Amino acid sequence: MQRRNFLKGAAALLGTVPIQSALSAQPAPASQENATPDTSAHMLSSSRGLAPIIATPDRIIEMNVCTRPFRLQGPRIQDERIGRKNVVHNYGHGGSGWSLSWGTGRMAVQLAAAHGRRELAVIGCGAIGLTTALVAQEAGYRVTIYAKERPPYVSSHRATGSFTPDSRIVSAQHAPAFASQWEQMARYSFRRFQSYLGVDSHPIEWRDMYSLSDRPPGSPRTPEHHHRPPRTTTVPSAQ
Ligand SMILES: Cc1cc2nc3c(=O)[nH]c(=O)nc-3n(C[C@H](O)[C@H](O)[C@H](O)COP(=O)(O)OP(=O)(O)OC[C@H]3O[C@@H](n4cnc5c(N)ncnc54)[C@H](O)[C@@H]3O)c2cc1C
Repeated sequence: MQRRNFLKGAAALLGTVPIQSALSAQPAPASQENATPDTSAHMLSSSRGLAPIIATPDRIIEMNVCTRPFRLQGPRIQDERIGRKNVVHNYGHGGSGWSLSWGTGRMAVQLAAAHGRRELAVIGCGAIGLTTALVAQEAGYRVTIYAKERPPYVSSHRATGSFTPDSRIVSAQHAPAFASQWEQMARYSFRRFQSYLGVDSHPIEWRDMYSLSDRPPGSPRTPEHHHRPPRTTTVPSAQ
C-alpha cells in the first residue's frame, strides 16, 4: 500500500472506533458477520496477511492540501480564435486528470489539426500538458511547451495517480451530455496506460487498493450509506 494512501486512510479513521475494511467483494463468512467491527477488521487483516492499521493522530507526519478544479459541465476541450492565434482549451479535469490525460490530449490535438499547422505550443506541463504534447508529437507536430512551473512543482505531481476517470469530473445534471466524450477519453487513456505495463521503472502497474468503510465486507450499499452526513474529525495542528 502506498504510504500516502495509508495516511489518507489514517485521517479518515480519526475519531471513529468501529471501522471495518472493505477489503473484499466476497460475502463475509457467517461468523464474521456477527463479529464486532474491531474483531472483523482484525480477522480480515490476519486472513489476508495484512498488518492491522495502527492509526492515531500522532502518527500523521505530513498533511498536504490540493485542489481538484472542475467545471459543472465537464472539462473544457474547445477551440477558440484569440487575436491571431487558434487556442485549444484543455482544462478542468477535476479528480480525473491523470486518468483522462491521454484521451483529452488526443481530443485537443484533433481540434488543433483542423487548422493545418505543423507547429504547436502547449501551455503547461502537468499530466495534461505532457500527454497532449506527446500525442501531438506522435501526430507529427513540432511541439514547444511553455510552462510557469515544471514537475515536481505542478499539481499533477501531488496526485495519487490512480485510474479514477469518474472522479469529480462533471455534475450529475450535465453528465448525460458529457457521457460520450468522457467514454472516448477514458477508453483511449486506459489503452495508452496499459501499453506502459511492464516497462522498465514501472511507470504503470496494477495495485491492490483498499478502502475504509463502515459497511461489513460484501454488504450492499444502503441509502443511509449513500447519504451519510460528513464525519467530523479533529486533527492536531502542525507544530
Ligand atoms: C490530491 C490529489 C489527488 C489526485 N488523484 C488523482 C488520481 O488518482 N487520478 C487522477 O486521474 N487524477 C487525480 N487527481 C487530479 C489530477 O491530478 C489533475 O486533474 C491533473 O493533475 C491536472 O493536470 P494539469 O496538467 O491540468 O494541471 P497541473 O498539474 O496543475 O499543471 C498545470 C501546468 O500549467 C502551468 N501553468 C499554470 N498557469 C500557467 C500560466 N499562467 N502560464 C504558464 N503555465 C502555467 C503550471 O505551471 C503547470 O505546468 C488528483 C488531484 C489531487 C489534488
